[in-house]
Amino acid sequence: MSKSKSSESVKVVVRCRPMNDKERTASFERVVSMDVKLGQVAVRNPRGVSSNEHPKVFTFDSVYDWTSKQVDLYDETFRPLVDSVLLGFNGTIFAYGQTGTGKTYTMEGVRNDPERRGVIPNSFEHIFTHISRSQNQQYLVRASYLEIYQEEIRDLLSKDQSHRLELKERPDTGVYVKDLSSFVTKSVKEIEHVMNVGNQNRSVGATNMNEHSSRSHAIFVITIECSELGPDGENHIRVGKLNLVDLAGSERQTKTGSQGERLKEATKINLSLSALGNVISALVDGKSTHIPYRDSKLTRLLQDSLGGNARTVMVANIGPASYNVEETLTTLRYSNRAKNIKNKPRINEDPKDALLREFQEEIARLKEQLEKRSGKRKKKRRRKRVGEGGEELDDDVEDEDDYEDGLDGDKNIADYWREQQEKLEKERSAIMEDHSLVAEEKQRLLTEKERKMDDLRREKEASEMLAAKVKAMESKLLVGGKNIVDHTNEQQRMLEQKRQEIAEQKRREREMQQEVECRDEETLELKETYSSLQQEVDIKTKKLKKLFAKLQAVKSEIHDLQEDHIRERQELEQTQNELTRELKLKHLIIENFIPLEEKNKIVMRATFDEEDDTWKMRPITRIQDDQQMMTRPVSAVGYRRPLSQHARMAMMMRPDARYRAENILMLELDLPTRTTKEYEEPVIAPKVAAALEDALREEEEIQVDASGLYASMAPGPGLDPSSAPATGAFAKKPKSGRPKTGKKVCTPTSGQSPSSSGSPLYPQSRGLVPK
Ligand code: ADP
Ligand code: MG
Repeated sequence: MSKSKSSESVKVVVRCRPMNDKERTASFERVVSMDVKLGQVAVRNPRGVSSNEHPKVFTFDSVYDWTSKQVDLYDETFRPLVDSVLLGFNGTIFAYGQTGTGKTYTMEGVRNDPERRGVIPNSFEHIFTHISRSQNQQYLVRASYLEIYQEEIRDLLSKDQSHRLELKERPDTGVYVKDLSSFVTKSVKEIEHVMNVGNQNRSVGATNMNEHSSRSHAIFVITIECSELGPDGENHIRVGKLNLVDLAGSERQTKTGSQGERLKEATKINLSLSALGNVISALVDGKSTHIPYRDSKLTRLLQDSLGGNARTVMVANIGPASYNVEETLTTLRYSNRAKNIKNKPRINEDPKDALLREFQEEIARLKEQLEKRSGKRKKKRRRKRVGEGGEELDDDVEDEDDYEDGLDGDKNIADYWREQQEKLEKERSAIMEDHSLVAEEKQRLLTEKERKMDDLRREKEASEMLAAKVKAMESKLLVGGKNIVDHTNEQQRMLEQKRQEIAEQKRREREMQQEVECRDEETLELKETYSSLQQEVDIKTKKLKKLFAKLQAVKSEIHDLQEDHIRERQELEQTQNELTRELKLKHLIIENFIPLEEKNKIVMRATFDEEDDTWKMRPITRIQDDQQMMTRPVSAVGYRRPLSQHARMAMMMRPDARYRAENILMLELDLPTRTTKEYEEPVIAPKVAAALEDALREEEEIQVDASGLYASMAPGPGLDPSSAPATGAFAKKPKSGRPKTGKKVCTPTSGQSPSSSGSPLYPQSRGLVPK
């Protein structure tokens, strides 16, 4: 089935809307004239009437004037494209033009009027009618709807309208919108509902719907998958994708005077459209090796439609009135270039991501499960019969029966469930009525029966759920003649066919006419044999005139293009100036207010994300940097975090916690107020003190000289001179004596002691008492 052409051009048609009421009342001049038969548009310069300027003529695949009907456009231009999508090609329809020239009218039209319905609703009808008439094919149709506004993609069918989607790329399937919702639709009604929901969401959040729609691109995507048994006995799936694109208004956005955010906004609004223009130019000039698809979301998403695997139709919408002439000419030139884009469409057969395949496999899996369940049931039943009957039944015969039972549709299954339930009920009531059983035994049997009934119910529910799931999935796969009731009768079908034939006829006529035009000029000189000099002069003059007119037309075209070019250049220069100024300001801020160190850090961290087309900051901590992160900065040896010199000084000098980086909590206990006094020594009378002092004196230090004592003092009553030691030796200190005190008084027991001298009769020391 791989029917593929090597290459074919993008088809470009022009449609001019009628004058609207405002234009008519202001009696604007019509400057556009159209030759529908020849496929030519001529635009007169409203100011060039006096200067005898020739109108500018453009030739297209076909042109539609203000009297054209939606259905004509559909039959002649769009139907063949949708037909090829049904065959498995990709197809794209663009509506291009200034705001208010009929892009939305062409794509959507007037919703409730069958006569004025646009391409999108007409294609719904077409697709589902085709499917209903198909034979031995299974179809799966799904729809998505998205919008690109200021380079942001919004899913018009999602619940969360604030969410923005991203473009991703896979090597096998190419560019796609991540997380874009798509709805499987089974009928015209369903897919219309999808479109309506999307249209409602389109206006949500738009403060001015007209402005919003003129600045955003809306893309309705229908994916048609078709499965058919091939000659090799295998099922083959073809997938066709139809993109229906209502582009933003092509008029120039004025950037003059806007700055900063507003300038950026204005630059973004038409970014996708100017990128589209650049892609077209790059594709047709034959010299470019790089096609700037990546410059905008729109061109990236529709890359295949421009020079790739798709059939593409572009509708250039123009207005007829004189005040639009500039934009009209721009539109015509733009689309004139697009004519030369070469596409390479091919049938997408058995792609990896076909949803239909997944559906088929899932259905098969579920059916198998269902089969298994009924298989289990059969076995149970057989076992039971054998057991209850007491005698063996012929197994083979039984098997056959059951097998047939199992295959025999829903009715048998329902019968089986009922039968089983009735049987259980019967058994239960038999137990209830059986009086021979003991109450306990009865209860046990009853609970068992209850349990069995519960099991049966559960199993039944599970089977039913499975069957419902299979049914739901199967209903999504559309099969010709079954799912959709074909309302069209034979006559209608004939009518349609005739219309198609007429459209085809017209197209061929037009092509031939265009060819004849071309040939005419070439052969003009060949067939000329002149009978007289005068005739030769006449004919040559005529020819000269014709060629001169052509020359003039080309000259004025060159002039126009140059003017256009200059204007565009000026605009670009202006934008560049604005952007340079902004850049300079940013530089100034960076140079003056951001420390060099910080700047370097940021520069080191910044990386360019190819996927998102933006600069991103790498996170500071990365797992592989952990090791590095473990080492402390030099400035903070011994501390948990870096400290400035000032802080370190302040920490040392100042008592408060202001500069303390750690341990800033005061951890001392808060003690209660004291209720006791400091110990104070008692006051001792000087005599007692002296006595004590003497008593506490170290005995080694005491010099005992009895003779001296007696000599110096009068004999006291307590001292017995006879008992005094006769020798001048030291008296030994008794070992068991009083504890040593810290006080070492080195005074000898001479009369130097004040007390000793004052009261000679007082026994001076216990230690001196003779033993
Ligand atoms: P755009 O989407 O290009 O901004 P619209 O499709 O909204 O323009 O058209 C602007 C108006 O012109 C609408 O009211 C529409 O009904 C009307 N209009 C556009 N084209 C035609 C046509 N071919 N026949 C009749 N009315 C048209
Ligand atoms: Mg519109």
